[in-house]
Parts: sequence; structure tokens; C-alpha cells
Amino acid sequence: MLDDKQAGRTADTDRYDAVIVGAGFAGLYMLYRLQKLGMKVKVFESGDNVGGTWYWNRYPGARCDVESMEYSYSFSEELQQEWKWSERYATQPEILKYIHHVADRFDLRRHVQLETRVEGAEFDPVANIWTVKTNQGDAVQAPFCIMATGCLSTAKLPEVAGLDSFRGKWYHTGFWPQEAVDLTGKRVGVIGTGSSGIQLIPQVAKQAKALYVFQRTANYSLPARNKTITPEMETSTKQRYPQVRKQARESPSGVSYFNVPTKSALEVSAEEREGTYEALWNDGGIGLTRAFNDLLVSEKANQTAADFVRGKIRSIVKDPKVADLLAPTYRIGTKRLCADSDYFQTFNQPHVHLVDIKKAPITNIRPDGVSTPDGDYALDVIIFATGFDAMTGTLLAMDIRVKGGANLRDQWEHGPRTYLGIMTAGLPNLFMITAPGSPSVLSNVVVSIEQHVEWITDCLTYLRKNNVQRIDPEAGAQEAWVSHVNELADRTLMPKGASWYVGANVPGKPRVFMPYVGGVGVYRKKCAEVAANGYTGFNLSARQPG
Ligand code: NAP
Repeated sequence: MLDDKQAGRTADTDRYDAVIVGAGFAGLYMLYRLQKLGMKVKVFESGDNVGGTWYWNRYPGARCDVESMEYSYSFSEELQQEWKWSERYATQPEILKYIHHVADRFDLRRHVQLETRVEGAEFDPVANIWTVKTNQGDAVQAPFCIMATGCLSTAKLPEVAGLDSFRGKWYHTGFWPQEAVDLTGKRVGVIGTGSSGIQLIPQVAKQAKALYVFQRTANYSLPARNKTITPEMETSTKQRYPQVRKQARESPSGVSYFNVPTKSALEVSAEEREGTYEALWNDGGIGLTRAFNDLLVSEKANQTAADFVRGKIRSIVKDPKVADLLAPTYRIGTKRLCADSDYFQTFNQPHVHLVDIKKAPITNIRPDGVSTPDGDYALDVIIFATGFDAMTGTLLAMDIRVKGGANLRDQWEHGPRTYLGIMTAGLPNLFMITAPGSPSVLSNVVVSIEQHVEWITDCLTYLRKNNVQRIDPEAGAQEAWVSHVNELADRTLMPKGASWYVGANVPGKPRVFMPYVGGVGVYRKKCAEVAANGYTGFNLSARQPG
């Protein structure tokens, strides 16, 4: 715990030009841009340091699955030339170090109040002012409030009774402690086999005496094939950065290096198809569903890629029963693809045990472990890699409302509704970076963050120049955007997965496919058109004279 001075806590009641919630990639860049506009800005951050996702998710094995030279800011040529990434896929400590470097290099920290959680924000529709309240007694005011709260920032524990009674230690990958966790000689249970679990499990296996992996759904994972970035690779990318960044911005996924497929998986011969999959498997990373243009559209095409990966899993895992359990059965790519380093190989080790909790779900946690109908498992440590209340959880945890009017929880009762994935009708002057309805989690999120931040910056500049005091999406424009987002998603197999993209991991959450599948490049153009045409689809209210 920092003292008040270290955290910048002041029980602030000051007035600002803008308040930003969150100091990860999005919040820090938003702050940088608004400062350049000469705005007085306040940032609230719940962590005891900046970094967002990369502050909280510090579990062993945590690393990015977007290549580091592209999972980085592009706004400063000096920054991208001077920073040196060491590996193809950066580890969590390296990314956090990078974010700290950015905060220091651009002198951003002095505007960030740490260890402070925003509890609510209320908009006064007469004065057109937000009042943002925190758990530290702050009540700051600003005409604009910008949520930079991340898509995966509200960690989720399973709804299983008895955790309070557990006598051992337990952790969640999404709020891993800062101090070292020693698992040497321990009996460890890991619940969850998504991206976090799949990265963590091989690392835990190196330390634990016995490791029990509690798997509800087997997942598709592809070898990351991480490697050191050689000086030649570094120089080559740095020299080509302008093209690389442009290509990423105009691409479907926000990276320059994915194939943009033109062929159907079904129009090529079986040999060509297998050869294409094999090359991508050997190259590493999560580009496999970009091998052909119909893998996320046609059931038959999808099955060819799914069969290929299932075959690979069976070839790695020696015990056929374990291999069967690890072979996913859903449509590949309809849940987030994972990238691993020796995940499936881990199950060949004699002290690693796979427990099928689809067939026999965990019934309760006991003082000394967990129970399922198939038996009891004695554990010293439980690690939950059970994911997040994604995309809406953090926004809805806050009480966001208009005085005497709309509130976000009611507005989104049946699922999130936004215009362009940036604002929601009825809550004026509230911007949300990478919100539902934007490419966000389907993209290299740093590219999407930069695009949103720059769009919001241009918008605020326009409002100021044109004497506009209030911006609010038109209800009709929002409905049309929501329909467009749904229509595009429904042309794909994506909504069919029981994924966090549709809220399937949170009991009772409305089943709505949240991200925009149309691609980063297409989306960017649509947002740019709206701005170029004078913010079409938004109600802009002029400042009252006098
Ligand atoms: P996740 O993908 O939602 O996976 C959660 C896992 O926990 C799933 O296996 C899930 O099973 C299981 N689970 C959830 N609730 C459970 C319950 N009540 N009982 C038993 N099992 C339960 O979460 P995540 O692995 O933290 O990843 C979330 C996202 O963060 C990723 O999809 C990715 O976008 C991002 N991420 C990225 C990286 C990277 O860049 N390399 C690394 C980590 C995370 P079901 O599938 O049956 O629900």
C-alpha cells in the first residue's frame, strides 16, 4: 500500500477538462494526447502502479501472443526506434517495463492517482458536467469522462461453494500477487484452460510436486514458437516501421504479418490445405484461422482446420485417453485461439493429471482441496485461471448515470449497445475506449486503442472549435450500428462459440456477440467517415451564448 503522497491521493474535488479511468495502454495514451491539447486531465487507477492488464496479469508464463514489435505504441517514432524488444512474444515483465518507460518518458505519472477505484460517475444534464466519485473520497468534475478500463479487467471466480474454508493458498491469474509465489513441492490445482491457464500450466508443472488440471472445455492452442529477436530482425522491422504500422492499421486484425486469405479451404486440394496448415503450425502464433477466407464462415471449412489441430494434439500427447480429452470439439476460432509453449507436452509428465470437470464438475472446495463426483483432490494451492467478466464487467461495476435520467446498467440490461463502440446513447460526453461494438478483443488491441484515442482526441478538438458542449449518439444511429455489428457477426460462425465474446462464461449475462468482426481497417474507415462528415449519427449541442 502506497502512502497518500506516493499514490497521489488528495480527496480531490477539483475541476478538470477530462477525467480518464484506467492507466493501462489506453489510459496513458489518452492522457498523452489530451495533455498535448493543453487540457487539464485527471487519471484514476486502481492498481498501485500504471500498466493495466500487464500490471494485474503477472502469473508465471504470462506473455503476449501478438508479436512484440507490433504490440507497442506507434505514435512516437523516437519511442519505437529506441525501445528494444528482446523476444518475438514479450513476457509480462517486459511489457510492464515498457509501459513504465512510456509513463516516465512522456512525464505522465504526475496526472495519475493510484490505488483509487472509481465507483461511479454522474452527469449533470444542465451544466453538462460529469462528477466522478472514487473509493478514496474524490469527487472531481469534468465535462468529459473517458473510460479506459480495458476489456478483460474484472476477474471471475467460479460459482463453487467452500473457497472460504480452503486452508491452502489460492490465486487468480487476473490478480496475481507481486511477491514471488513458490510452488516447489506443492500439490497444485489449476482450474481453467483458456489462454491464461495454457500459458501458466507448463510453468507450474516445473515446480509442483503434483499438478491437477481441472478442464471444463478443451481448447485449441497453437505453438507460439517464441524466439529471441535478432539484431537483424530488429533493424529490418525498425526500418520498415512506417509500412508495418500502416499495414497493421489497414488489416483485419491489426497486425501486418497475418495472411489476408483469398482462397476457400474447400477449393484447394487436401495436400495444399494440409501444407498450408503445416506451414502456419511450424511458423507459430495464432494465424491459423487466417489460412483461408472461409474458416470462420463455413462449417465444413472450419472442420478441416479443427481436424488438423486435433491431429497435432493427438500426435503430441502420448496417452490416447488424455489426448482425447485435450482434443477440442467446438468450432475452431469461435473461442479465442491460444498460443502456448509446450502446453500439450506438459501432459506427458507423470506428475501432471488432467481432470475432466465437464463430465464430473467440481461440487465444492473443501479445507484440503476440491471435490468432484469422481473423487476428492488434496491440494496445497488452487490457481483459478477462470477468466473475466469481459468487455462489460468493469463498466457495469461502476454506477454510471445521468442525474434524473438514464443509467448504464439499465441501458445495457439486455446487452451492451453502443454507437461505433465508442459511446452509448443517453450518456452524453462519456467515451469508452475499445468498447463492445468495436474490433477491440478481435484485434491487436494496441492498434485499436490508438485508433480510438486519436478519434476521441480529434472529436474533442472539433467540439471545442465548434463551440459544442455536449455530444450524444442519436438513438437511431446506435440502433443501426448495433444491427450492423450483429448482422456481420451472424454471417460468421463466431456467435456459435460458448465464449466470453458472447458472455457465455458468466451465468445470467445476456448472450450478445460483443466485438465488431468487420476488421480493424474497415472499422477505422467507418469511424473516419463519421468524423469527416461532422460527426454524423451524433447529436451535438452548441454552447449556450452568454
Ligand atoms: P478464459 O479464456 O475465459 O478461460 C477461462 C477458463 O476457465 C476456461 O477454460 C473456462 O472453461 C474455465 N472456467 C471458467 N469458469 C469456470 C468454472 N466455473 N468452472 C470450471 N472452469 C471454469 O480466460 P483467460 O484464460 O484468462 O483468457 C481470457 C482472455 O484474455 C483470452 O481469451 C485472451 O483474449 C486474453 N489473454 C491473452 C493472453 C495472450 O496474449 N497470450 C494471455 C492470457 C489471456 P469454459 O471454456 O468451459 O468456460
